[in-house]
Amino acid sequence: QKEGLKKILDKKIITKDGRKIMVAANIGSLAEVNVALSNGAEGIGLFRTEFLYMDRNSMPSEEEQFEVYKQVAQKMGNKPVIIRTLDIGGDKTLPYLNLTKEDNPFLGVRAIRLCLQNRNIFKIQLRALLRASIYGHIKIMFPMIGSLKELTSAKTILKECMKELQEKSIDFKNNMEMGMMVEIPAAAVMADEFAKHVDFFSIGTNDLIQYTLAVDRMNEGLSDLYNPMNPAVLHLIKTSIHAAHANGIPCYMCGEMAADFSAIPILLGYGLDEFSVSSASILEVKNFILETINQ
Ligand code: PEP
Ligand code: MG
Repeated sequence: QKEGLKKILDKKIITKDGRKIMVAANIGSLAEVNVALSNGAEGIGLFRTEFLYMDRNSMPSEEEQFEVYKQVAQKMGNKPVIIRTLDIGGDKTLPYLNLTKEDNPFLGVRAIRLCLQNRNIFKIQLRALLRASIYGHIKIMFPMIGSLKELTSAKTILKECMKELQEKSIDFKNNMEMGMMVEIPAAAVMADEFAKHVDFFSIGTNDLIQYTLAVDRMNEGLSDLYNPMNPAVLHLIKTSIHAAHANGIPCYMCGEMAADFSAIPILLGYGLDEFSVSSASILEVKNFILETINQ
């Protein structure tokens, strides 16, 4: 069946009312870019950069990160590449960082919180991203934003990095698009405010479901409660998409729910602009969306 789907590899998805729907890939490494492209990815909707930091004894340097981001951007050509800044903490730790042990790591110093507390680590990554931006269509995305203050701080630090590069006459794109993940219920509830300060949203349903329903996403004993179709979850998704559009920005989704066939028709109805899924699911998701909108 998969072979038969190759014929839709380059097919564009346009709804009957003329909206373009994108299907993109989630990746965790440079090596995955080729797999994404050969499966028809129209972009990278989520590059989880934490894997660059894991399974090693020290931080990846600015140069090392720059090389990876640059090569991902180059391989994707003019297709968009959303690179998410470090999302460590929660279930993922880095032995060389000496992070404090927490009782509730998923409610703890994770992702943007960790970066804002460790600005040097954050700035190394931001400089690498800025320098790579001239080699393709990179967009930057901040994870686990829960308050405007965090978003503003992240943007201020990004500006600082730009200034530092400028002073050294190092090239970067100064109009790189900047977005945030909507994965904390607070961000979804206040989406209309957040939308005024970013270029795009990407809904992270893996965490949004966990935090909305207070159900650990890793706990198999609760798998029947971990329900993407819970009306509270759907309500927050709809709110986020509509707030994005009311403010003239697109809304993407990069959580597992984007590949869930029972959810896709609902997400299409809400107006979701991009489904970012694992490379192995791209063709099936594309095919299912085409069937749904052409009924
Ligand atoms: C999510 O939370 O839905 C997401 C895409 O991010 P991660 O799975 O890396 O937390
Ligand atoms: Mg997440």
